[in-house]
Amino acid sequence: MVPLKILFVSPEVEPFVKVGGLADMVGSLPKALAALGHDVRVVFPAYGSLRLDSSWRARSEPLGVDVGPEARWARTWESVLPGSKVPVYALEHEEFFARPEVYAGPWGNFADNDLRFAFLCRGALNLCLQLGWIPDVAHAHDWTTGLLPVLLNTTLRNTPLGRTASVFTIHNLEHQGYSHRRVIDFAHLPPSEFRPDSTESVGAVNMLKAGLYHATKLSTVSPTYAEEIKTPAGGFGLDHVLRFRAGDLVGILNGIDTAAWNPAMDKHLPRPYDQRSLEVGKAASKAALQQRLGLDVDPHIAVFGVVSRFAHQKGLDLLAEALPHILDRMHVQFALLGAGDPGLEQSFRWAAEAYPGRVGVHVGYDNALSHLIQGGSDFFVMPSRAEPCGLTQMYAMRYGTPPIVRSTGGLIDTVAQFSEGEHSGTGFRFTDATAPALYNTVGWACATYYDRPDELLNLRLRGMAQDFSWHVSARQYAELYGWAVDARRGPAAPPAA
Ligand code: ADP
Repeated sequence: MVPLKILFVSPEVEPFVKVGGLADMVGSLPKALAALGHDVRVVFPAYGSLRLDSSWRARSEPLGVDVGPEARWARTWESVLPGSKVPVYALEHEEFFARPEVYAGPWGNFADNDLRFAFLCRGALNLCLQLGWIPDVAHAHDWTTGLLPVLLNTTLRNTPLGRTASVFTIHNLEHQGYSHRRVIDFAHLPPSEFRPDSTESVGAVNMLKAGLYHATKLSTVSPTYAEEIKTPAGGFGLDHVLRFRAGDLVGILNGIDTAAWNPAMDKHLPRPYDQRSLEVGKAASKAALQQRLGLDVDPHIAVFGVVSRFAHQKGLDLLAEALPHILDRMHVQFALLGAGDPGLEQSFRWAAEAYPGRVGVHVGYDNALSHLIQGGSDFFVMPSRAEPCGLTQMYAMRYGTPPIVRSTGGLIDTVAQFSEGEHSGTGFRFTDATAPALYNTVGWACATYYDRPDELLNLRLRGMAQDFSWHVSARQYAELYGWAVDARRGPAAPPAA
């Protein structure tokens, strides 16, 4: 293997700033690549919410960032990804990043997101030049970094970065980063890039599309999602671009951080457990969860957990619709954690009021509680309409909590259908994105819980035995980087005869 220099540029990095699964990937994959011998570095914005503790050091040299009409300056903070030597750089800039949130404030998406993230892309690349560290590959993620491959192909083509290949990963095709064409000038891109086979969609700049057209290679986070996004039903208007680039697109499953999500070492569980101590460990977590969310403390009732963004994509409106019917007819409790759509937040609050002791809801973001829900629930509910990969279903299996998922995207690739009697499968899958389909599947899980506890125990143990670590996927990414470098530079010359 040839060791590569790999630059990650992302708006989110676990454990520093996280909105969704993108942060988990950018916090884990670089470590797995470094373990394979690659030189990986990560750049993200120093949002106002970032705690710059003693592990961070400010670089003395200011960073000039070529955006807008006059030079802008950033301050660069340097640290490492915890538990590794992978350098991380956080770009501080008062106007663009001092606010605590990543994408949206109380009044919705920030109106200057296009400028903020163009600044991130150019800042990250200028930092490489300043460090004299020229990456072989720049790995960009989702719409916020869609302009990075365009910069490499155009404005920076005749600089030392002109040989840098790019890999663009689609974590979620739904969010495309539409903006005014002002961002082209702001990012110092040639005006001619405002055209439909580059950055333009319906008269605006589509930053995700820009990345799709310009990156040397494309990936997405599961093989099934890689197929779905090439179809009109799953392509969010960009399926034609993905079909055009199909030969350069691969689906690589996300791994999970198996150290952070390990029921045997989880400090958020009252009694960590492994396969041998599953029953006692889960009972302790269940009691703690019931107490924490104001549920009746009952070791015998089936508890269904949810940890999710409350969004249409996640299908939680199906759960909100099915919930009263489930609660009226089945002996179950629900433990819900999430935030997002105000209507959904309200529906779940109402359910908690209408069914005291049986529905517990925490609206907000709470990492400790998310671990306790994985540990203390009997089943994990994830009725996603679309799911590029999904992480929480993998955490659930690792915690012996069979997931109930809709058959879509990465959920198909990670959850095998439970087959009673055949002793196979790791969770419960349903196909139709409807409340009755979810209701029936919760009913199936419930019947398994009360009537066939031995089958359920084996189902839990099969889930816990799965390998969801980054080892396999990191090798696949390394291979993809190799293809990208060859495509950018041409294959290495054959040795002289
Ligand atoms: P997505 O990226 O679409 O939100 P994923 O399943 O890929 O979905 O990743 C979601 C991540 O965010 C998981 O690590 C999950 O545990 C975490 N998460 C989501 N909502 C919350 C919440 N309210 N509190 C704590 N963690 C959450």
